[in-house]
Amino acid sequence: MPVTEKESSPVLRKIIHIDMDAFYASVEQRDFPEYRGKPIVVGGSPEGRGGVVATASYEARKFGIRSAMASKKARELCPEVLFIKPRFEAYKEVSKQIREIFHRYTDIIEPLSLDEAYLDVTEDKQKIGSALIIAQRIKEAIKAELQLTASAGVSVNKFVAKIASDMRKPDGLMFIEPARVVEFMEQLPVEKFHGVGKVTAEKMKMLNLYTGADLKKLEEAELVKLFGKAGRFYFRIVRGQDDRHVEPNRETKSLAAEDTFQLDLHTSEEMIVELDKLATILFNRMTRYQLKGRTITLKIKYSDFRQITRNRSFPTPTSDREVLFETAKQLLLGTDLNDQRIRLLGIAISNFQEITHAAGARSQLELFDPQTE
Ligand SMILES: [Mg+2]
Repeated sequence: MPVTEKESSPVLRKIIHIDMDAFYASVEQRDFPEYRGKPIVVGGSPEGRGGVVATASYEARKFGIRSAMASKKARELCPEVLFIKPRFEAYKEVSKQIREIFHRYTDIIEPLSLDEAYLDVTEDKQKIGSALIIAQRIKEAIKAELQLTASAGVSVNKFVAKIASDMRKPDGLMFIEPARVVEFMEQLPVEKFHGVGKVTAEKMKMLNLYTGADLKKLEEAELVKLFGKAGRFYFRIVRGQDDRHVEPNRETKSLAAEDTFQLDLHTSEEMIVELDKLATILFNRMTRYQLKGRTITLKIKYSDFRQITRNRSFPTPTSDREVLFETAKQLLLGTDLNDQRIRLLGIAISNFQEITHAAGARSQLELFDPQTE
């Protein structure tokens, strides 16, 4: 496979974002005919006593049931909804099969979770040359071989491809051609920008920023002042500029616990107390998913939105709470804490050794990538 010169080359890239439709629920409906055509929810507890919905079938979505919704709420919306225990082993197997289909066209695949991936098909293995045709063939193969549907977004960068894949769900295919990228970004409502959470979207609207075109009127410096480092990203993305590569070796996911503080922390004592709490939260998550990792990463965001990460790796995987805490503490004390105000702290663990079949569970969690600054 020839290495493409994405950064220096003026050649437009061809990026596909593939996202399986209601993945867990669809696998259940495929494997158990009695669930077909019915409102089902994977995850959560049937008595509505706790837990959240991992995935809702399209029949359940008609009642307003969504991912991450409390079981109780789901039951209120649709009393006859069926709650199904997740079978991560099955989803993982299907995920592997989907990936094998991708590999027929490219090896530059960046999985985001079990059911979602970016593909760079600028140079595809079969010399098809058209990303749109490749996306179509992948969808067809998934349907024919796995009896499941996927939605695909095709464009010149990751950002636009990902938004596009969500526009025609389920079984959708959306192509944003290069000439339309700028216009597409201008008309895009800010809450559709992935990476823009609820809080930021609210803030933008308070500032009368409703679409990409509104953001585009601001200077880069103004955006940075308002939104920190993300401002720089917004400045570029509203102009259709996103040169993030599709990174094939991003399997190294991390499990993280982080907290943004109401009031900035400015003494090391306060920071250490928070790290202690975060270590416990992370430890509990690791225990729940039976993960051990070799790399511990500390993330610090300062009051001026600057962000740094520091990490340390160990020769053998650990899941020890004290090791998490002590390592994070040492990493913190290794930074310059003079006159610093900290708004967010996070601890992450990566380089996993899986004790059991935890990959599926992991993808459902909040993750942050310790490599990103
Ligand atoms: Mg999906």
